[in-house]
Amino acid sequence: MGYYDVAQVCLNGHVINDNYISSPEFNQKFCDKCGAETITDCPKCKTPIRGDYHVDGVVAIGHQYTPPSYCYNCGNAFPWLQTALESAQELLDIDESINDSDKALLINSMKEISKDTPKTEVNALKIKKIAKKLGSDTYDAFIKIAVDVGTEIAKKSLLGS
Ligand SMILES: [Zn+2]
Ligand SMILES: [Zn+2]
Repeated sequence: MGYYDVAQVCLNGHVINDNYISSPEFNQKFCDKCGAETITDCPKCKTPIRGDYHVDGVVAIGHQYTPPSYCYNCGNAFPWLQTALESAQELLDIDESINDSDKALLINSMKEISKDTPKTEVNALKIKKIAKKLGSDTYDAFIKIAVDVGTEIAKKSLLGS
């Protein structure tokens, strides 16, 4: 049997320490990349954010921790997902090459790919298709956000050719 450590993540989603309990020497009150405050629990229900998974006698090497998008206890979206969705919306707001209904579709799909559901892959494909109508700068930035917020399945479809 193993157990989860607690993760310390800044409000913008930078992982500060995924072993908050077992390696407290790496804890920081603020993020050294963006200056935002750091949190270790869900702002809504105060459940600790799951960090590294420890298995007795096993040392995980080279494992890359990504912070969760949603709280497993209350379903609340973490602040970094909200911020990413807001940035995506701002990007679309300044792009004049696509219409409002395509923009709404893109934002909706962006939300869907942050969750692992039967619709994840379809929405990743929608993003790939519709985002092509964006200006090329906006396209690159939008896909980058999508890859950041997307689940593993979504990342694969977004990056696949
Ligand atoms: Zn940060
Ligand atoms: Zn919660």
